[in-house]
Amino acid sequence: MSLRFQALNNLSEQTLESLLEPSNGTTKAKITALFAENVFTHQVARQFLSDEAYKSLMASIKAGQKIDRSMANQIANGIRAWAESKGVTHYTHWFQPLTGTTAEKHDSFFTLKSDGTAIETFDGDALIQQEPDASSFPSGGLRATFEARGYTAWDPSSPAFIIDIGYGKTLCIPTIFVSYTGESLDYKAPLLKAIEALNNAAVDVCNYFDRNVTHVTATLGWEQEYFVVDEGLFNSRPDLVMCGRTVFGHNSAKNQQLEDHYFGSIPERVYAFMRDFELECYKLGIPLRTRHNEVAPAQFECAPIFEELNLAVDHNSLLMDIMTRVAARHKLRVLLHEKPFAGINGSGKHNNWSMATNTGVNLLSPGKTPKTNLMFLAFFVNTIKAVHDYADVLRASIASAPNDHRLGANEAPPAIISVFIGQYLNKILQDVKQRVSDKFDEQDESMLKIDIHRSIPELLMDNTDRNRTSPFAFTGNKFEFRAVGSSANCASPMTVLNTIMAATLRQFKKDVDALIEKGEKKEIAIMHVIREYIVASEKVLFEGNNYSEEWAKEAERRGLPNVKTTPYALDAMVTDKAKKLFADNNIYTHPELEARHEIELEKYIKKVQIEGRIMAELATSHILPCAIRYQNLLVNNIKGLKEAGLSEASYASQKQLLENISKHINELSSNVLAMIEARKKANAIENTREKAIAYCEQVKDTFYDKIRRHADKLELLVDDKEWYLPKYRELLFLR
Ligand code: ADP
Ligand code: MG
Repeated sequence: MSLRFQALNNLSEQTLESLLEPSNGTTKAKITALFAENVFTHQVARQFLSDEAYKSLMASIKAGQKIDRSMANQIANGIRAWAESKGVTHYTHWFQPLTGTTAEKHDSFFTLKSDGTAIETFDGDALIQQEPDASSFPSGGLRATFEARGYTAWDPSSPAFIIDIGYGKTLCIPTIFVSYTGESLDYKAPLLKAIEALNNAAVDVCNYFDRNVTHVTATLGWEQEYFVVDEGLFNSRPDLVMCGRTVFGHNSAKNQQLEDHYFGSIPERVYAFMRDFELECYKLGIPLRTRHNEVAPAQFECAPIFEELNLAVDHNSLLMDIMTRVAARHKLRVLLHEKPFAGINGSGKHNNWSMATNTGVNLLSPGKTPKTNLMFLAFFVNTIKAVHDYADVLRASIASAPNDHRLGANEAPPAIISVFIGQYLNKILQDVKQRVSDKFDEQDESMLKIDIHRSIPELLMDNTDRNRTSPFAFTGNKFEFRAVGSSANCASPMTVLNTIMAATLRQFKKDVDALIEKGEKKEIAIMHVIREYIVASEKVLFEGNNYSEEWAKEAERRGLPNVKTTPYALDAMVTDKAKKLFADNNIYTHPELEARHEIELEKYIKKVQIEGRIMAELATSHILPCAIRYQNLLVNNIKGLKEAGLSEASYASQKQLLENISKHINELSSNVLAMIEARKKANAIENTREKAIAYCEQVKDTFYDKIRRHADKLELLVDDKEWYLPKYRELLFLR
């Protein structure tokens, strides 16, 4: 019996009860009772550290600095005491290398003293810094140029936590990962720099309005979409196992057209899985808030309450890991790929982003007074200007082989970056544009400010999310970057967004100060620069349907970039403009940027290459054998009917079917061979960018759809019981 039928059998024999109970035994009723119980929170630190160590740790967190060496041993001891009180035996530095998943290398607290007696230790050095074998992580040539080794260093702004899933409990220390000469090799190091750049630039601008602002934090609330499939069926699909997406599979008769999944109740088995991974997330302090079905069958979403950006990024990376692990308990698999199934929606990860001051003001929330509304307007218009000026860099930050399947595929925002702000804010911007003129005086200024303030109530009523098609939408008190892919590390787009915002705000301050120096009153100067920025960036605003063809044409007329594929989109990372942007803001040096560009291209090549290989393998060893066996059956049937003396008309349908099948068999195998040739040619190309382009255009675009079409046709023609690969209707509708 093929794996497919075994999986289908198992599925119908499985008792739901065996899958429903959370296996980790947590039955506490209230979330608050277990929230963050596996996190070294400030309260826990208070309890396990001496006064001195506690103060030192808090000071480092506040200043965003490494912890004091002289305190490291004390802090490490406190953390170990806490961890051991929870039964932890091992620790690891937990980091986010550019491979896209999280990395851990476990070490035991256990060690031997010189006399051979066993002892448990965790010293300051082990807490602060480690040297994982850096050679197995991508460095884009940095290592060759600089220094072979890399090290991880604790980032105390993100608290230590305990992973307690399956066997053993591990203390995880969130770290950055850098080369010995300081080049960043991960997602976190540049993110922290971008957060700091934004803080500095935003505080300066806030101080025009409020002297009490001393700190600005970026905030992120992500929404994670994912698919869930049965483990047995998953295991019978080598393409899912190898690349997280199905390279073959005909649409099932029913898809998402009835929207019955979106509006239906959550399937029991998935519900049990959700509750289980949510519990694990709560213990880790991830504040999950919503869960629901998504549009496509077997597609779901979860989202937390927003948090400080760095922590939110860690929590998303952690969530993806936890989901994957907990799914195994329920004999389910989570698909985080952007496009696991053709013909139905893919998955995204909306990034809701804003900025908050130490005085408790959300800088993207319309204010309560005319003055705070002017501050809101300044930050709002600066965001639009940043996105306008650096749309290409923002696009590059979400470019990946899997996300290419979504962007512009009439289900996700297009590759054109535009901003949706809604009718009322548009009106306000138009007002500012018309009324701020050369003769604009103090009286005009206060009238305009009051008029803006008057329209805020209307605006608040308008903050419903009416345009689902926009890649970058204002949703009342935050911007929502929707083009991010479901498997992405949020740090990549967030590093760029915060950097371009920092750069724009710094320019804004310069421009305003220049006018003030010329003798302009502060608030009038601010209005003038806001007006100038509105005029300079309004072509990035779009209120219509982003999925429409007219928009692609209109965007072209406006001169907005529309780069559909990753190898070209990534070019924007290494333009002179980008190099200057990242160097000026102290995020990436030129070599670091070149290295990242190289790494992204290599990731692209590898992903497309793996898909090509699995396609060839499945076509040759799974699909063709099934098709040929059925072909033989037909041949014998026709032969038999002929021998029995029947007329040609009596086996006309069999003949027709046979011809059809034979045609697809031939096309399938000849295209697979040609694709393998094209891959060989691409592999021979030295230059990484050209190789990526060859993989995109000569391999993927030329062959993948074509090959798939013939395979999918055969799926419809061949006897169902001969077919090895679980079909879409099984993957998507059975659980
Ligand atoms: P909806 O958009 O469904 O009405 P919300 O506006 O509450 O729901 O939030 C959607 C997402 O935006 C949530 O993940 C939430 O945490 C996040 N979010 C809300 N406010 C902010 C903010 N100020 N900064 C960042 N993210 C936010
Ligand atoms: Mg959303």
